[in-house]
Amino acid sequence: MTLEGRRIVCDYGPVRALAGIDLHAAGGEIVAIVGPNGAGKTTLLRVLSGERRPDRGEVTLNGSRVSGSDAAWRARIGLVSHRTGLYEKLTAMENLRFFAALHGLARSGRKLTATLDAVGARGLAGRRIEALSRGQRQRVALARSLLHDPEFLFLDEPFSGLDPEGAAGLERALVARRNDGVAVVLVTHDLRRGLRLADRVVVLRRGRKVLDGEAAEDEAAEILDHFTAGAPDP
Ligand code: ATP
Repeated sequence: MTLEGRRIVCDYGPVRALAGIDLHAAGGEIVAIVGPNGAGKTTLLRVLSGERRPDRGEVTLNGSRVSGSDAAWRARIGLVSHRTGLYEKLTAMENLRFFAALHGLARSGRKLTATLDAVGARGLAGRRIEALSRGQRQRVALARSLLHDPEFLFLDEPFSGLDPEGAAGLERALVARRNDGVAVVLVTHDLRRGLRLADRVVVLRRGRKVLDGEAAEDEAAEILDHFTAGAPDP
């Protein structure tokens, strides 16, 4: 099971966000995408998940083109982006029930509670989203993305707003999914965590891939160099 982006180009008007990127992610691996502000990380994640169509290039799963308008593909992915997509007036549990129904899943209360538990959000079940802190919302958004046991997880800055205990819990949850064969692709500014967690680290700079390698300790210095070299991208 391999997801592959080939020669991906994305423009926002005159801004070339991605300038011909090749990237693959296989079941059972965690890929961390790192790079300075504006490097194209979020855009690449959106393209890989099917949320945005590339202007050129293609995304394929085992050779067949993937599209965000394909409900069958959406059912196989979990996505956590800057927008949580949660309903503010509903409680965490009501949100999970709603999204479970949307996926056509009959999830028992126990299963939903277990999903909240996996990201340390059990105590938030009865709380409305509008009354939650940023980190608490992030936990519920993560629970939502895991709800339907997706085969692919796309996470944009999933650790942002999480306290150390929440971050450690999320790491455990992601490793468990990876060990179950899920492909996890995450964008992070936390390079050290990315290096520790990921099987492969991809470094972007100005819309280009400058490094794609096994996340071994001896490569850490090289990756850090790429990551920190020069000023942030305009
Ligand atoms: P950050 O680390 O700051 O989140 P990033 O690596 O995720 O950045 P992107 O958000 O993918 O980078 O942005 C890549 C480039 O595309 C940047 O130059 C950005 O200004 C531009 N861009 C992103 N979204 C839009 C948009 N909606 N309209 C115009 N330009 C955009």
